[in-house]
Amino acid sequence: MERQITTGKLLATQGYVSGVEISGSGSRQSVALADLDGNILYKARRPLEYVPDTQTVLRLLDEMLAEVTAPERLRDGRILRAGVAVGGLVDSSQGVVRTMHHAQGWNNFPLQDYLVEKLDVPCIIDNNANAAALAEVESGAASPSGEEGGHKKAERVVLYIGLGRGIGGGLVANGKIYHGTTCTAGEIGHMQVKEHGPKCSCGAFGHLEAIASAQAISRTMIGLSVEYPETEAAIRRVTGARAERITAEQVFQLAAGGDPIAQRVIEDVYTYLGIAIANIVYLINPGLIVLGGQVALAGELLIAPLQARVDDLCLPVVGQSVRIVQSKHGSEANIVGAVTLALQDV
Ligand SMILES: [Zn+2]
Repeated sequence: MERQITTGKLLATQGYVSGVEISGSGSRQSVALADLDGNILYKARRPLEYVPDTQTVLRLLDEMLAEVTAPERLRDGRILRAGVAVGGLVDSSQGVVRTMHHAQGWNNFPLQDYLVEKLDVPCIIDNNANAAALAEVESGAASPSGEEGGHKKAERVVLYIGLGRGIGGGLVANGKIYHGTTCTAGEIGHMQVKEHGPKCSCGAFGHLEAIASAQAISRTMIGLSVEYPETEAAIRRVTGARAERITAEQVFQLAAGGDPIAQRVIEDVYTYLGIAIANIVYLINPGLIVLGGQVALAGELLIAPLQARVDDLCLPVVGQSVRIVQSKHGSEANIVGAVTLALQDV
């Protein structure tokens, strides 16, 4: 029998939540079914090799939602809430996708209303980095037991930086996502870090995303290698002769192996990501910065030099107050984030 206690929030003891991940670029479209403890029980995933139009994404979502919420999976009750992590600008208070820089057709799309109608349950939508930040606080690298050795103290101010195809940021203070006045707080990919720098996905120049995102690192590496036969050969070696597939992690590894071009590329990542983080640290004084996304797969090759760079740029008392760590949820951060959003009010 379903038992519900109302204390301002709905406290259910039975049922499920659903998490939805929409990347915009097409690479990550997923729907998950989770229990009320946040354990993911089933997941449907439809990655695409191209940037899909809005209708294609919505059709895939419908298919995946039908698969995930099939009656045989819902033996212990119904879906109580859905959470959606979107790879773009989201006005979470209005439930609207404002824009996606990597895909057309999403401007001011009322995604929350669309899903409420489909699922007939309350939905919470938010930017994917905000969702991932919340997930790292609730159950990941910033949770009281999330770090190796069982770190005991809950961090009050945590910044998550998603270094994926683009760069997103999410700030969680005292357990809540900080959205800012118009829900654009944390959009650190578009911080100006280099005057006359490379062109960003938003059209402007010198933004952090155009230097330190996974796509920027791979593109810069391929572009620079053209004049260096030894580097070209190294790229072919690690990619199985498919240079266009080189990952940011591979660029870090080539740099560690002594390739001077790879070292140039990641030196810029340390410099400009370091500048961005140092500036952010002065403003918000986070105890922990969690790095996620493909670039963070480089692990200590990224984190140790970056922490040193931030220490150099900040006053000692400021730099020493923040630790930089790798995301615990890794490539699952956005879908775990979507589930975490759904569980916020359950
Ligand atoms: Zn930009």
